[in-house]
Amino acid sequence: MPTSEQTIVKRLTELVAADSVSSPDPSWDSSNRRVINHLSDYAERDGWAVDIHELESTADGKANLIATFGNTHNLGDEPAGLVLSGHTDTVPFDAGGWASDPLKLTERDGRLYGLGSTDMKGFFAVALEAVSAFDPAKFKAPLYLLATADEESTMRGARSLTKAQLPLARAAVVGEPTDLRPMRMHKGIMMQGVTLRGQSGHSSDPELGNNVIEALPTLLSVLSQYRDELAKTFRCELMAVPVPTINFGCVHGGDSPNRICGELDFSFDVRMLPGLEYADVERDLNARLVEIAALHDIDIEMRRLVEPVPAFEQAEGSELVVACEHASGQTADAVNFATEAPFLKSLGLETIVMGPGSIDVAHQPNEYMPLDQIQPAIDTLRTLINRYCM
Ligand SMILES: [Zn+2]
Repeated sequence: MPTSEQTIVKRLTELVAADSVSSPDPSWDSSNRRVINHLSDYAERDGWAVDIHELESTADGKANLIATFGNTHNLGDEPAGLVLSGHTDTVPFDAGGWASDPLKLTERDGRLYGLGSTDMKGFFAVALEAVSAFDPAKFKAPLYLLATADEESTMRGARSLTKAQLPLARAAVVGEPTDLRPMRMHKGIMMQGVTLRGQSGHSSDPELGNNVIEALPTLLSVLSQYRDELAKTFRCELMAVPVPTINFGCVHGGDSPNRICGELDFSFDVRMLPGLEYADVERDLNARLVEIAALHDIDIEMRRLVEPVPAFEQAEGSELVVACEHASGQTADAVNFATEAPFLKSLGLETIVMGPGSIDVAHQPNEYMPLDQIQPAIDTLRTLINRYCM
């Protein structure tokens, strides 16, 4: 095993062992601070300048890390340099489904197994190793390493980034597992809850209440109609599912066959294509809900179950897309999972999603990083560093 691979395996072993599950379920949620501290140690040892930004109102020290390598002086007003970005947290796990301890990096059959090995602690170990070949004194523009908190739950880390924290670089690579294929687009997602309130009463006489289940068919048909309208207006052939979707996720309401149902909760998700903003979807839906409420003489209230993630698109033919296609030897494509890319893009950076490993093995037992993607990942990142920083 070459020395660089040994360093990667050693560091990834420590990163995987540092449990950093993030989850809306408090019984699972844990701090990412140990991962941040490890990354900070590695980066400082490798000659980076490190800043740790603790997230607001966090009791357990959750933080983002921004490390800087190379020249930050006399950069002028133009964007300069490159950001290598990843998230430090993982999803919850079911240890029983794993062939080895998920928190113990285990090499087997040319693969490094471990929770977060590919999604995406492995990217940090690889990125640091890629940079170790460079002399920061020779950089014309800086390289930044960004490590965020809570991507798998609320994306709070990426959402909290400010222009003051992350200087305006020319480009950012979000190293999510894409088998090193540049991904320039993904859908956004919003999850909404709707509460319908009528009047409960004895079922013997419908006049004694106002049954909200009677309004459900209207709600479903209005949402289906809206979904059809979206599909006619927005289409992108780069996506596996080329139109926006709305999934009816769950419905809860009522308590007894002999009672008029006075309240019902319904929730759904919307997956937006680039160009479809979640604020517009909310406005369209609210207008329709007002009509349903009037029609059935009930109250309807819609709320966000989680904060939306916008759709992401980096233009075909933009400098970064072309650079990544050349560096990786693969044509840019679209992914069907949401990432932090739209938040970096909103800070003014050209952004792409591209990293080693496969999303197909992420978020499930026996997640692994294939050893044979490590050197190609290092080579690809070095090509980009040469282009953006030298
Ligand atoms: Zn991820």
